[in-house]
Amino acid sequence: MTERDPGAGSLPQRASSEKLHVGRPNIGNRERLMARIGDLLDRRWLTNAGPYVLELEARLAEYLGVKHVIATCNATVALEIAIKALGLEGEVIVPSFTFVATAHALQWQGITPVFGEIDPRTHMLDPEHAEMLITPRTTGIVGVHLWGDTCDVDGLQAVADRHGLTLLFDAAHAFGCSRKGTMVGNFGAAEVFSFHATKFFNTFEGGAIATNDGSLAQKMRLMKNFGFSGYDNVVSVGTNGKMSEISAAMGLTSLESIDELIAVNRRNYLRYRDGLEGMPAVRFLDHHDERERSNFQYIVVEIDNALASASRDDIMNGLWGQNVLARRYFYPGVHNMEPYRTLAPHQRMLLPRTEALVQRTLVLPTGTAVTDDDVDFICRFIRAAVGA
Ligand SMILES: *Cc1c(COP(=O)(O)O)cnc(C)c1O
Repeated sequence: MTERDPGAGSLPQRASSEKLHVGRPNIGNRERLMARIGDLLDRRWLTNAGPYVLELEARLAEYLGVKHVIATCNATVALEIAIKALGLEGEVIVPSFTFVATAHALQWQGITPVFGEIDPRTHMLDPEHAEMLITPRTTGIVGVHLWGDTCDVDGLQAVADRHGLTLLFDAAHAFGCSRKGTMVGNFGAAEVFSFHATKFFNTFEGGAIATNDGSLAQKMRLMKNFGFSGYDNVVSVGTNGKMSEISAAMGLTSLESIDELIAVNRRNYLRYRDGLEGMPAVRFLDHHDERERSNFQYIVVEIDNALASASRDDIMNGLWGQNVLARRYFYPGVHNMEPYRTLAPHQRMLLPRTEALVQRTLVLPTGTAVTDDDVDFICRFIRAAVGA
């Protein structure tokens, strides 16, 4: 705690000692999940294009309004597969303000991630800055949708088109979201979802690639299964990116509850928005266009460290003291993580907006485990801490 801190004594104390987490898993109807698990055990078909995986792929394609969905073991391997299938090489532009997997999926294949700046309003990749980073070695851009919202798809597509680059999206945060009425899953060459336990829609571990390009889908399908095209017939190099049946059973069950999960998140989101209103030192990320669909999975605030009487880190530590496990995202920025920090130490200087943002961002708990009282407490705590 710094000397600017108003002191723990003057801050509200939470009555409950139950821990509130960011990204606490959502679980759909337990009986239906157990019934599905019973069925898959009876069938003894545990993985390899089983009936649940095929059903989940079909239901996801329908939900997203996209031609092809390929279920995978997680989003990181899905990104690696998409990057390889699209033939990316040399340098690829990505935001630094993302989960480290976006960059690792490139670096893992010997491709250099070149970090682009964010638009401070949306926290997402700024097409104008991305365009300035293009060199003769650049082959693509990976846009990242954050916070249950979408990045500047049109701006990035225009840059990609002008320079003959491939555009791929990391849509790990954006399952169930739309842009101009079109569901995420339909943009760029392909879009990759994460169904990790902490994400809005989960399959324990899992992911999916969505695309409207049939030949790309075929290529990625082979890649996720070692390049097998039927028994004993390997036609290309591949990896093991398959989703298991138990994950697909979880996905099918979660999908049946998706509207309820969104409704809970939306309700929390609106309550937070009201509760955090009118504080000059706190910016609530309120950029959901009411005409668009969102999963409302992320409650994001920026704390103005100069204006607030407590810093972002003090507020976070204070909340942890009340068993509210708020998180700094995506601190300290991928360009400040290894191996990128050592490989390209100059990038810090080129990313002032990202450098500032990682000091300001705080993500608050939401989901089915968070009550109205919890939201009210968190808002009161922040209000007292910033001295508003
Ligand atoms: C969670 C996440 C990933 C990785 O997803 P996994 O399914 O855990 O591999 C990638 N990118 C972003 C932006 C994420 O939030």
